Amino acid sequence: MTNQLTVIAGPTAVGKGTVVQHILQHYPDVHLSVSATTRAPRPGEVDGVDYYFLKPEQFDKLIADGQMLEYAVVHGSNKYGTPKQPVVDALDRGYLVLLEIDIQGARQVKAAMPESKLIFIAPPSWDELVRRLQGRATENPSEQARRLESARVELDAQTEFDHIVINDQVARCAQEVVDLMQA
Ligand code: 5GP
Repeated sequence: MTNQLTVIAGPTAVGKGTVVQHILQHYPDVHLSVSATTRAPRPGEVDGVDYYFLKPEQFDKLIADGQMLEYAVVHGSNKYGTPKQPVVDALDRGYLVLLEIDIQGARQVKAAMPESKLIFIAPPSWDELVRRLQGRATENPSEQARRLESARVELDAQTEFDHIVINDQVARCAQEVVDLMQA
């Protein structure tokens, strides 16, 4: 069953979220794992849908209880992780399961489940990535600078992935990801 687990990662603002939403709307066999995080919700984000928004002590209890498939501190501040049981349940029900997580998490999943597929979503260029981050304006300038710093490190890690897909156009990128998931 674990061969149906796919991890998507890629630098901040590359458009992973948009690609994933497109996949969920068009491919009903795909189940997206809802991550847990200690960061505060952004306007419009819904608990249990976008993330499980947890207090640090709640998050740490899930780790201590062995209920996290992977977890990491992302962008130097908050913790993010994948609750294990919902992933196992969705795989058992026959779904193609997708995790949208950071690179540290992707490495942990690959170590725990070597059959999983790692797909790196890459920007068409560095300049385009900067443009997308500044365009979405959800982070203040110092947070943007921190995320761009992380993005450089993340881009360097793309060779560790099984596949690299360029997000030049959302529908095309989503189709390529799904083709790889089903292969
Ligand atoms: P954001 O705060 O913009 O929603 O997400 C920040 C970063 O956290 C993104 O790079 C995203 O991929 C990563 N992330 C989200 N969920 C998880 C998770 O469950 N595990 C890990 N390791 N990273 C995650």
